[in-house]
Amino acid sequence: MYVTRGSKWDTTAEVVVIGYGGSGAVAAITAAENGAEAIILEKQPRESHHTNTSMSGGIYLTPTDPKSAEEYLTALNRVGKGISWTDRASMKAWAEYAATGRAWVETRGGDIYAAPAAGLHPQLPGGALISKHRFVGMGIGMAKFLDAAVKARKIPVLYETTATHLLTNLRGRVVGVEVQTRQDGRTQRRRIRALKGVVLASGGFEFDEQMKLNYLMCYPVYFSGAPANTGDGIRMALEVGARLWHMNCVAAFLAMKFPSVPVAFHLDFLGRSQLGKAPGKTENDIPIRSGHIIVDRHGERYTSENVKGHAFFYELPLFDTHRLVYPRVPSYFVFDRKRLENGPLPTITSGAAGRTRIYQWSPDNSREIEQGWIVTADTVRSLARKIGVPADSLERTVKTFNRYCEKGRDPDFSRRAEELIPLESPPYCAVPLWPGGPNTQGGPQRNSRAQILNADGNPIPGLYGCGELGCVYAMLYPGGGGNLTDCFAYGRIAGESAARGK
Ligand SMILES: Cc1cc2nc3c(=O)[nH]c(=O)nc-3n(C[C@H](O)[C@H](O)[C@H](O)COP(=O)(O)OP(=O)(O)OC[C@H]3O[C@@H](n4cnc5c(N)ncnc54)[C@H](O)[C@@H]3O)c2cc1C
Repeated sequence: MYVTRGSKWDTTAEVVVIGYGGSGAVAAITAAENGAEAIILEKQPRESHHTNTSMSGGIYLTPTDPKSAEEYLTALNRVGKGISWTDRASMKAWAEYAATGRAWVETRGGDIYAAPAAGLHPQLPGGALISKHRFVGMGIGMAKFLDAAVKARKIPVLYETTATHLLTNLRGRVVGVEVQTRQDGRTQRRRIRALKGVVLASGGFEFDEQMKLNYLMCYPVYFSGAPANTGDGIRMALEVGARLWHMNCVAAFLAMKFPSVPVAFHLDFLGRSQLGKAPGKTENDIPIRSGHIIVDRHGERYTSENVKGHAFFYELPLFDTHRLVYPRVPSYFVFDRKRLENGPLPTITSGAAGRTRIYQWSPDNSREIEQGWIVTADTVRSLARKIGVPADSLERTVKTFNRYCEKGRDPDFSRRAEELIPLESPPYCAVPLWPGGPNTQGGPQRNSRAQILNADGNPIPGLYGCGELGCVYAMLYPGGGGNLTDCFAYGRIAGESAARGK
């Protein structure tokens, strides 16, 4: 939308940040530290403000050597010889800022501790050298740390203020934001002027069905973070001529989703996430005590289950063009009494069943059995009938898996030996699993100075981006901690660039 000289403004700031998650907070703090007067617009009310950042596990990557971090990101983004999902300069900038992310947090009083290291793809160059840190209090701890830093710099946060359009002058420079806000019980339109720049930090499109249907590779896909992330930043950027990138890329795997809760749950596949939350302890220190398999709609295994982390999603869009179904959507998590007794099915270190307490999962899973979320049966055959997969097939699959457990070897999918625990103690249980997980990666393309680019690849003056809204990651994710790293890296870059008005 255009504004002309002499237009009326309701509020003026030098840097206007849209979205008060991790990336928006970092951008605003950085802009303020670089001498700019910043303001943050946030669509949610203060009292019920949940972001992907606050719901996260609070882990971020803290590489010490920018060169090897850049090497790793370059390998992750490589499509073929000379073809990369992301340009070299943007990856270099990410690596340089990621390598100083730990110091940035510590010098501002952030309480973090070392988390288990190495990237998700340690076989790639630089992958094994990635170190990680985690916030005490996880995502909520990180959000509180950033909130304290925002308050200390007296940066105003306007809650219940939804950015709806970017405002440009006649030369195409972004000079402000139109918002909808609630006052005295009424919705009002307001115009906020940005003298130096606008930073889009409004998260991804995890809760926009139309965008998910069009951009992701299968449907439905359910996400586990803040329902407020409805792709608003993408629509606003498109209106001012931005180009998009990484739209079909996600950090996702298989997740649980039930109709009465708006967000999905991450599954604690091995039943030990609650034990890993103590500082100094890692989940890997806890022995695996229960077995499970993942089967498709035909009752057959198709994968080595949980070994692929954030890239698991890409195994799910297989489409059967004769029967017109996605055979792996939903898949089923099949387990027995041992896993039930191992504690809540979802991870409680992050997400809806984590510290945000959006949903209080019962410690022994009993409430969720009563609600019909977890299906139980005395035999594998009757379990199959209850979930609607062919009984002969599921029974055969379980028998075969149990035989592999006896022998200690999985010739079909080479599952790790320590996970070969048979399913033999009734009740046999199942939950449907849907493509889903933490977040989308796509959005407006940005360059190494966090400037958002137009269709010709030139920066749109006055517009910057950071966070999961069009971040540097594409199909392969660096590993748990990647997205919060982008909040710190590109949040800082966007804040610096916007403060300079460049
Ligand atoms: C359960 C879970 C666990 C995770 N764990 C980790 C982890 O341990 N490590 C890691 O690196 N990543 C993790 N992630 C991913 C990571 O949390 C996110 O990618 C990251 O926090 C995104 O930060 P952001 O600032 O881009 O978006 P968000 O933190 O989601 O913030 C976006 C903000 O923008 C606001 N907004 C949206 N539209 C508008 C609008 N029109 N006007 C005004 N405001 C608007 C939203 O209300 C929200 O407050 C996890 C995600 C989930 C869901």
